[in-house]
Amino acid sequence: MYSNLWIEERYKDFYAMRYKVENVLYSKKTEFQTVDVVETKGHGKMLLNDGLVMVTERDEIAYHDMIAHVPLFVHPNPKNVLVIGGGDGGTAREVLRHSSVEKCTMVEIDGAVCEACMEFIPQTAEVLKGHPKLDLIIGDGVKFVQEFQATNEKFDVIIIDSTDPIGPAAPLFGPEFYTNVNKCLADNGIVVSQGESPWFEAEIQKSMLGVLNDIFKNTFIYNFSNLTYPGGLWSFTFATKGDTHPINDFRKEAVAASGLEFSYYNEGLHQAAFYLPTFMKKNLEGLIQNP
Ligand code: SAM
Repeated sequence: MYSNLWIEERYKDFYAMRYKVENVLYSKKTEFQTVDVVETKGHGKMLLNDGLVMVTERDEIAYHDMIAHVPLFVHPNPKNVLVIGGGDGGTAREVLRHSSVEKCTMVEIDGAVCEACMEFIPQTAEVLKGHPKLDLIIGDGVKFVQEFQATNEKFDVIIIDSTDPIGPAAPLFGPEFYTNVNKCLADNGIVVSQGESPWFEAEIQKSMLGVLNDIFKNTFIYNFSNLTYPGGLWSFTFATKGDTHPINDFRKEAVAASGLEFSYYNEGLHQAAFYLPTFMKKNLEGLIQNP
């Protein structure tokens, strides 16, 4: 137990978030990054990759509800789902709650992230310890889609639950990767990706949407808010191979019919999330479809 240990995540040289740490549970330097799990006073257990907060027990539900349930309640019948990244397990956990899902393939580059979360953050990672519908692969998502696109199998929904565009995740934001993702998608397939901060990373958002626009039929972006990402407001991109629309094709009645309980997601929020603040609409003008 540490009496006065604080952990600080700095955003560039002008902004920082600090958290009171009660215990350091796990710390490892891998070939890809440093992986730490700490017990905090106010946010429960927290996963940090390269000193950046990835997941906390307190607010992970916001990110995982919105990255999984938005595409899965739009796609007409999602059976085969691919998750790239997502080593904490929270996205796979939510995907596997959908009874239509027959198979979820998850490709995480760093086994240490899964190992640390299985031991110290079962709230998100319990599912990684074994689930009949989960195929967990420790490997590079870039290589996986390169090889997979040559097979005949297709995914209905692909979810890119990655870190920021640095280190091993940098290629996950590029045209070559998304060209292969598009080839791995069924004709009415949807791809949703971790889309950075509207307040702080408008340039990354513009470049991501530029890449998606060149490859996919329709491109949208939607928001959620949490406690531990810089600025609290964060986005996901939503791109489709065919004409699917995130609101017009939203299977609203399926949410209640699923019998699933949610802590963050609901029918109203699903739709509201695609209505953007004016500064964001201005930043991304011409790069996204209207909701
Ligand atoms: N929600 C978090 C965020 O927004 O920052 C991301 C959560 S998840 C922990 C991100 C995972 O992506 C990390 O565990 C990282 O190892 C993994 N990752 C990064 N690059 C990858 C790649 N090329 N292929 C597969 N997984 C990758």
